[in-house]
Amino acid sequence: MQIKLTYNRRSTHPVEVGNICIGGDNPIRVQTMANTSTNDIDASVEQARRCIEAGAELLRYTTQGLREVESLSQIHEQVLTSVPLVADVHFQAEVAEAAAKVVEKVRINPGNYSKDASKLEERFLRLLDICREYGTAIRIGVNHGSLSERMMDRYGDTPEGMVESVMEFLRIAWAQQFMNIVISVKASNTRVMVDTVRLLVKRMARERMDYPLHLGVTEAGEGEDGRIKSAVGIGALLADGIGDTVRVSLSEAPENEIPVARDLVNYFADPHSPRYTGEVTAEVLDQIGDRPTIRYSSMEDDWQLFCLQAAAECGRLLWEYSAGEIELCNPSFSETKLNFLGKDILQASRVRIYKTEYISCPGCGRTLFDLQKTVAEVKKATAHLTGLKIAVMGCIVNGPGEMADADYGYVGAGRDRISLYRGKECVLKNIPQEEAVEQLLKLIESDQNGK
Ligand code: SF4
Repeated sequence: MQIKLTYNRRSTHPVEVGNICIGGDNPIRVQTMANTSTNDIDASVEQARRCIEAGAELLRYTTQGLREVESLSQIHEQVLTSVPLVADVHFQAEVAEAAAKVVEKVRINPGNYSKDASKLEERFLRLLDICREYGTAIRIGVNHGSLSERMMDRYGDTPEGMVESVMEFLRIAWAQQFMNIVISVKASNTRVMVDTVRLLVKRMARERMDYPLHLGVTEAGEGEDGRIKSAVGIGALLADGIGDTVRVSLSEAPENEIPVARDLVNYFADPHSPRYTGEVTAEVLDQIGDRPTIRYSSMEDDWQLFCLQAAAECGRLLWEYSAGEIELCNPSFSETKLNFLGKDILQASRVRIYKTEYISCPGCGRTLFDLQKTVAEVKKATAHLTGLKIAVMGCIVNGPGEMADADYGYVGAGRDRISLYRGKECVLKNIPQEEAVEQLLKLIESDQNGK
């Protein structure tokens, strides 16, 4: 059965963020997040320049407190371009309120916006008033693993719980006719991320809301695996016509994220892309065994582009047709290479697990160690542990919650200090970083030997 490849963008209202617009008929925007300390103005400005040169249309900064808000205003003055800045705020509503007076957009997390549920509405209304006065946009950003206790008690860490966390805030904003909001719902598990965004879109449609969406797979990792995982999750939604701005989160320099996001967006939204010129076909082959096979054929001769495009198309088709295999056809690449890529896509879609699964955050101003180097060390030491999910997270504040369903976690606990987790349980606290990989291996080995 030949599968028709189409693209009909979900209708949304435009949201003004500084002098760009997200949603409506505007192009799908590409953004990234700094991994410098926000208080290191020179490093942040230098990095901002590299990201803008790479094509970033928005730049986000971790904003832990009022000191970072002040730093943001200095970064803002020095990044003399039209690229809007976004403050990423957790835990402190007063920081979001202060940041809203300084930057073009503030990201808040409903899971930690207000501990006191009875004050949530009052506090959020105050933020809406400030944003209205200063023309600031808001991102309501929910992540799998960081729901409020109230939502966890009621729904558990489920798509329903994530959607309800967003809707609670949206209903307040909608009643005030505050439209300058973009929403994101992210998870490291691509299937969970896609199912949750689809559910959110249905729920918004039921309540006649048309807020635009920011797409991303959290803790996607780095290298080819990180790119394939991001393409599976983001691609499935872009193919649905969902998505108005995209961030590909890689445990690499933020400027590396931009071309990946741009290639994905172009593939779906550009009518001249190979998807629409007949150079790509997808079909479902006769059932072999108990599940069908997806055959994806392409003439794309650039390996990086082919990987992204195949992952973006095949992940969603695997789910939609309950398929269990992928057959990739491309005359430019060897059968061995295509077979490995097929397996990587099956793993990124969580259809089959062939190797160790890594979950690693992109790092931000909260990261106090060399994340990229550490991810490489952990990968080297644990590559033989097929089937295990191992997380490497930059900070203790958000890391443990957001490392999703990892079996083990390596989490930054302070400068050159690491805590090790078994699932959600912290088993070794604040150990020196130079011992951490060895201790992680010992922990896993002792668990596997049943000690
Ligand atoms: S887990 Fe911590 S260090 Fe990593 S991106 Fe999230 S907030 Fe930043």
